[in-house]
Amino acid sequence: MINFEYSRTSSVKAALDVLAKNPGASFIAGGTNLVDLMKKGVATPQRLVDINNLPLKQISIDAKGLTIGALALNSDVAENEKVKKNYPLLVQAINAGASAQLRNMATIGGNIMQRTRCTYFYDTTLPCNKRKPGSGCGALKGYNRMHAIFGASDKCIAVQPSDMSVALAALDATVMVSSSKGERKIPFTDFHRLPGDIPEKDNNLQPGELITAIHVPVNSFNKNHYLKIRDRASYAFALVSVAVALKVNGNIIQSARLAMGGVAHKPWRLKQAEEMLTGSAIHDLSFAKLTDNIMQDAKTYEHNAFKIKLGKAAIAEAINKALQ
Ligand SMILES: Cc1cc2nc3c(=O)[nH]c(=O)nc-3n(C[C@H](O)[C@H](O)[C@H](O)COP(=O)(O)OP(=O)(O)OC[C@H]3O[C@@H](n4cnc5c(N)ncnc54)[C@H](O)[C@@H]3O)c2cc1C
Repeated sequence: MINFEYSRTSSVKAALDVLAKNPGASFIAGGTNLVDLMKKGVATPQRLVDINNLPLKQISIDAKGLTIGALALNSDVAENEKVKKNYPLLVQAINAGASAQLRNMATIGGNIMQRTRCTYFYDTTLPCNKRKPGSGCGALKGYNRMHAIFGASDKCIAVQPSDMSVALAALDATVMVSSSKGERKIPFTDFHRLPGDIPEKDNNLQPGELITAIHVPVNSFNKNHYLKIRDRASYAFALVSVAVALKVNGNIIQSARLAMGGVAHKPWRLKQAEEMLTGSAIHDLSFAKLTDNIMQDAKTYEHNAFKIKLGKAAIAEAINKALQ
């Protein structure tokens, strides 16, 4: 690990000031991703700005929805009784991630900022445009079993690994950020980005910005399910995951939200499928038509073609589970 400087801050302004004066600095929250990246030489910040003392741990629900401070722990959100009652999809997605010990350290802001688990990104002896722009994408013609089937580019086929982010994309969440220029809100579906020609950029957070909170609007989804398919039953990243939130009245789906994880550089919202589901009778769903439609734009690589069949089955299973 390289030498680095360390600052502990206790206000948003102080944290932003330290970052502004030190362009090579990184915020550190739970450290469960950043410290690993530093140990492997993938991340080399000159200074860590510890934000754990910032007053950003609130979990509150009001008439407009749920607001979660960026420093709320994953486990505190998932164990909050009001969140469990009103946002079960979010709770299921958080609990599908990592392990209990990690969720006790990991923060909400850190979770959505976590970097890809592509093995070429983590191994500094291999080419990776995300880690070292211009060095090439080792995964493109390498071992690409975990990789993207939607929205990839010839520069990067990595996937975004956060389970929670898939639920937040489905639930139309918003990311609240602060910088010396003021505050702004980023719709969750615009927070992460596709790799294009600049895969080193995971998201649309600008330099000098701090995530302060995530807001999830009130919803009336009464059928929810987060399904994660992985190599082990626990403590493994998604091969494919599906977040489903439905508002069902009688036999009819009145509104639907669907997103997939493990398939793209960002949570993959399935708006067309949502439209197909809306107005359908629950006993009359045509999963073949729905999933064929979703997968028609998929592009696979040597080792991940199985994600098409797996993805189709996972979507059908997740909707069925939500409807139970
Ligand atoms: C073995 C293992 C298994 C895991 N399995 C899963 C899994 O199955 N599913 C899953 O979703 N996750 C999984 N994770 C990832 C885990 O959820 C993340 O490491 C964690 O959520 C990151 O949160 P943190 O607070 O520790 O972030 P940190 O490591 O502190 O920070 C991560 C990044 O976020 C930035 N950052 C943090 N807070 C802010 C903020 N407020 N504003 C701006 N930038 C910020 C940091 O600068 C850094 O770049 C796993 C991790 C490990 C180590």
